[in-house]
Amino acid sequence: MGLKVYNKKRDFKKTEEPEGVEVEVGSNRFVVHEHHASHFHHDFRLEMKDSEGIFVLRSWAVPKGMPEESNIKRLAVAVEDHPVTYIDFSGTIPDGQYGAGTVAIWDSGTYELLEKGEDKLSFILHGKRLTGEYHMIQPAKFEKKNWLIFKV
Ligand code: MN
Repeated sequence: MGLKVYNKKRDFKKTEEPEGVEVEVGSNRFVVHEHHASHFHHDFRLEMKDSEGIFVLRSWAVPKGMPEESNIKRLAVAVEDHPVTYIDFSGTIPDGQYGAGTVAIWDSGTYELLEKGEDKLSFILHGKRLTGEYHMIQPAKFEKKNWLIFKV
């Protein structure tokens, strides 16, 4: 997906969010942002190569928050890839800007990828709050952007 969509949605003269720059090195980090926007949600982001071979934060909005216990399935809506530097971002996105509201880091850490497919991802999270094996699946009947995330 690259970062074109990310950059297009934002005015970097007005928001303190980092501008999307392509990077070719990455590690296996993740972050969960707590985003108090028009509707509270978590944003779950995995540092990962995109289809063009650049490192991005693949991102999903999780309206009900990341599951901390096993077998709680939560909807995770795929959103635009974010730049790797977004992993450290916290602050306030001003009114009138995309995603206006406050963003704080709720959890962060590293992950071990177990499986990466078109409609399935599985990984082990090593965070402070989130630990253990998580699966993300995209049931065939779901809209393309909609996934389920759960702890095994
Ligand atoms: Mn968000």
